Amino acid sequence: MEESFDVVIIGAGPAGYVAAIRCAQLGLKTACIEKRMEHGGTCLNVGCIPSKTLLYSSELYNTVHSQGSSLGIVTPSLSFDFQQMMKRKRDVISSLNEGIKGLFKKNKITHFIGSASFLSSESIQIFQGPTTTIVRAKKFIIATGSEPTPLPFLPFDERKVLSSTGALSLDKVPKSLIVVGAGVIGVELGSVYARLGSHVVFLEFLDKICPMFDGSISKSFQDILQKQGMQFHLSCKVVGAEVSDKSVIVKAQKNSDASLFSLEAEAILVSIGRRPYTEGLGLDKIGVLTNAKGQIPVDSMFRTSCSNVYAIGDVIDGPMLAHKASEEGTCVAEVIAGHTPSLDYIAIPNVVYTHPELASVGLTEEEAKSLDFSITTGSYFFKSNSRGKCAQQEEGFVKIIVDTTSDIVLGIHILGAHASEMITLAVSIIHNRMKCEDLSSLCFPHPTLSEAIKEAALSVHKKAIHK
Ligand SMILES: Cc1cc2nc3c(=O)[nH]c(=O)nc-3n(C[C@H](O)[C@H](O)[C@H](O)COP(=O)(O)OP(=O)(O)OC[C@H]3O[C@@H](n4cnc5c(N)ncnc54)[C@H](O)[C@@H]3O)c2cc1C
Repeated sequence: MEESFDVVIIGAGPAGYVAAIRCAQLGLKTACIEKRMEHGGTCLNVGCIPSKTLLYSSELYNTVHSQGSSLGIVTPSLSFDFQQMMKRKRDVISSLNEGIKGLFKKNKITHFIGSASFLSSESIQIFQGPTTTIVRAKKFIIATGSEPTPLPFLPFDERKVLSSTGALSLDKVPKSLIVVGAGVIGVELGSVYARLGSHVVFLEFLDKICPMFDGSISKSFQDILQKQGMQFHLSCKVVGAEVSDKSVIVKAQKNSDASLFSLEAEAILVSIGRRPYTEGLGLDKIGVLTNAKGQIPVDSMFRTSCSNVYAIGDVIDGPMLAHKASEEGTCVAEVIAGHTPSLDYIAIPNVVYTHPELASVGLTEEEAKSLDFSITTGSYFFKSNSRGKCAQQEEGFVKIIVDTTSDIVLGIHILGAHASEMITLAVSIIHNRMKCEDLSSLCFPHPTLSEAIKEAALSVHKKAIHK
């Protein structure tokens, strides 16, 4: 007898597992199918969590190494243990895996391990080794995520030609590393290895790094990373590569004059983006088509072209971010339960967890201008911030973009230590369509890095005190 559910979710990443928990909370009989042995998807197993764990270890080492003496910390024989860093990464992952397993149990969610493929719009089969199970459901949620995109002529071997997954599981620090693509994942993983002694060189097709960020912020960010020893070749395209046991020789072409140049390194990390993952799902059996980017098109209620099948997370349009995926997970569960939730996409923050960090929410200056806003900007540098001085965190600045006509804050951009934590305040400002005047009249604790947000807001109206 085939088991039957109100909702079956395919994929237990941040989109799928959050959707499953919310569905169960709303009283729906829920199952989640995941082909990995562990819950948490890309984010927990090969994405956000392992990268942030290695970023933390390498940053701590690097801070003591490069700033210890000026901070009064004497460590005559400082070194690092890469195997221990990797072990800690695995321990963090398994502890969080256990946490999700516990939440599934607590919420009475049935968990199937195996690869799911639709038979019809009411039934799905799950393959695990030689065993096949069929389950039925009134509604399905596709949350199958994404995978790293390779260069067309250079498949990943995860030894010399690394995807982010391979770069998070190396057994030693490469002496040199070419990173193709200076987006968020590239600069985070490049930072980890640069801090541990790799010579890291980036090749980027566009004329700026981390292109989704405000232009002035991205430029300052690049200058800071360069001072840390990373090198950047912008506006160039990788056109070929020779891989041997010893090294990788990469051939690149400058966009300006088509001239060629070569670089050699011990390994290459290809981080040119991720693509939606729908392989083996049998979407054709339920009449769901993917678009040219491989995404599943959905309406504002996350419905696909098959009326009882929904899709969320990296597999649909929008920024490929864990928190965006999870918010969609909550929303789709509420839609299925008959509620009318809404998600404020403009207030979804973007973060790069390097040192310093980069975080933003709302419009960049370039976007605001292209939308014909008349804008005023204000900025404030951490070198003038007292907490920045105390903590030797003086790099970077806050930039605020305001609609001159309404005084509503359109965008907040922070390049600085702990930007990932400070941006939450900015999310609230953007979500509530707050006026700059109201932001600048808030009382901030002193001394804090966040005071730079208030000063940047004050400077929009030429009222900054410490400037
Ligand atoms: C190195 C790296 C660092 C990142 N850092 C951050 C960060 O700091 N912050 C952030 O917000 N985002 C980050 N991301 C992005 C984030 O990981 C993704 O946006 C997020 O995981 C998307 O969630 P999802 O649930 O849509 O998909 P996924 O997390 O990809 O989960 C999909 C799951 O579906 C399963 N699946 C697929 N097909 C089937 C099938 N047919 N049957 C059963 N199961 C199936 C997969 O095995 C997978 O576990 C990072 C990504 C990478 C690679």
